[in-house]
Amino acid sequence: MPRSTDRRPPAPRRARGGFADALWALDGASYGRYKSLVGRWAMDGFDLEIVRGQADPYAPPARVVLHVPATVAGFPADLWRTPVRRRALGSFLARRAAEETGDGIRVDAGGQEILDRGSCQVVPPGPTTLDGEPGSVVLRLNVPLPGRGRRIDARAAEHVLCRRLPRLVDRALRHAAVDAEALTRFADTAEDSHALRQALPRLGLVAFVADGAVLPRRSGVDDRPLTGPAALPFRSPEQLRVAVDLPHAGRVTGMGVPEGVTLIVGGGFHGKSTLLRALETGIWDNVPGDGRERVVSRPDTVKVRAEDGRRIERVDLHAFVDHLPSGDDTADFRTDNASGSTSQAAAIVESVEAGAKVLLIDEDTAATNLMIRDARMQALVAKDREPLTPFVDLVRSLHRDQGVSTVLVMGGSGDYMEVADRVVMMDAYQPSDVTARAKELAAVPTGRRAEADTYPGTVHRRPDPASVDGSARGRPRIQARGRDGLVFGEETVDLRAVAQLADAPHVVGVGLALEAMVRRGHLDGRRTLTEALDLLDRDLADGAECLLAVRDEDFALPRRFEVAAALNRLRTLSVAR
Ligand code: ADP
Ligand code: MG
Repeated sequence: MPRSTDRRPPAPRRARGGFADALWALDGASYGRYKSLVGRWAMDGFDLEIVRGQADPYAPPARVVLHVPATVAGFPADLWRTPVRRRALGSFLARRAAEETGDGIRVDAGGQEILDRGSCQVVPPGPTTLDGEPGSVVLRLNVPLPGRGRRIDARAAEHVLCRRLPRLVDRALRHAAVDAEALTRFADTAEDSHALRQALPRLGLVAFVADGAVLPRRSGVDDRPLTGPAALPFRSPEQLRVAVDLPHAGRVTGMGVPEGVTLIVGGGFHGKSTLLRALETGIWDNVPGDGRERVVSRPDTVKVRAEDGRRIERVDLHAFVDHLPSGDDTADFRTDNASGSTSQAAAIVESVEAGAKVLLIDEDTAATNLMIRDARMQALVAKDREPLTPFVDLVRSLHRDQGVSTVLVMGGSGDYMEVADRVVMMDAYQPSDVTARAKELAAVPTGRRAEADTYPGTVHRRPDPASVDGSARGRPRIQARGRDGLVFGEETVDLRAVAQLADAPHVVGVGLALEAMVRRGHLDGRRTLTEALDLLDRDLADGAECLLAVRDEDFALPRRFEVAAALNRLRTLSVAR
């Protein structure tokens, strides 16, 4: 199927008999010799490519790629005609393959989200391809290679590579072998979700939550939907109800979250954070049955929060922070140990710099002193003694002057009623539109004075590529520490506060993208971060190949925002302005 995303020259193909022979020739040899199998071998109906061998029994498993020509895979064109459907097909097949694996063979299948993953790529047919294939399904997996002690066990290896892998191809990567109905539903669901997301700007919305959606999850560590009668499906308030026609599901209704400033209020434990969390994940499509298949937000939606202790590199925070007692210049602010409020201010400014058009903020993870200062506190602490300007006085200008909308969960202070365009109240997990009542209340003066009225334009920073080094002692090192940290060269970047990352492979994707930005010269010391991210976006639009070219690892394709967030948290980063 390619328009080949394979820009690397294809490995020479070696004959099938050759593979078994080559394997048997290694029987009893030292483990490291497995690497002599590196290359691409013709098998029955597919190619087996060994990208990396395995150095010893305890080393990381071998990296193996299965190339199945479209003619063998047999998926009808309808399933791979658009990039969204190809992503869905790849995601579905990776899940199927993961079900079929055993013996330590691992396929990165992902969770509730449908992301573009290195593990399974559907390469469409195109006019020209480098390796002359009529399109293909490409599965990348980790395969532990068997040994007797520290010696190669050819018989066991033959079982894995020449029997198990062909069976995997046969059972998971062919149309005839998979549940066609489930596959079609999977692709249609993804396409509907994508269409819904694309409809948002036209409707003047930043997000949409369909009627009937199930937002709560099973637990804080289980992202599957809460089931049973306890899970209350979403029902949109009439004033915010919007109908959208989708290519497969037809007409759906739900709550439209309009551009501007939207406040979500309600008592504790009434479902505010759950709603916001659903909007955070609305940037990607979810699998059928997730409950949030038709909960979408704009692709440039970024969750921001406080994160004390993080590093900040030359960010202009003066809109939020000024006249520090230390005398530090807050228009060009740098610290190795940010406070709660400065870290959140930096997260806002950096997100806007990276191009975010929607900010999501939850009181649960926000710095109170950056969010609000009420009338009594204004009376007690004179403005010239308080370095902070609260977000409540900047959020309107952020939309008016910069085109950046905000959705804010705030149950603890009424000050935002004045600046909100819409107020949604969550009551026993059900939303209602309480804008009119909130505006009545806001009309009664509290004596609070606004402390600012303009959110300033972005000061662009030019990252120094020499300060972004993904190698350790000369060798590339990009690893995930679970979902929460990225080992990048000698550094470990703390990503706990970067909410919109799905899993460890997504973190690896961020690391590979950072490395690609340096290697491809997007970060050249002259370009601004924004310009470099624009170039990265062009690469990412072509799919996984630009990251595979950095290193063949399990990864999910990241957004520019998470790449920027990691860069901003890299403790070695240095920038010019
Ligand atoms: P808040 O932010 O308003 O304090 P949360 O969003 O944290 O509330 O929700 C509190 C609890 O209620 C969570 O355990 C969450 O899973 C659960 N919950 C949220 N929405 C629903 C719903 N629609 N149906 C059932 N349980 C829900
Ligand atoms: Mg909450």
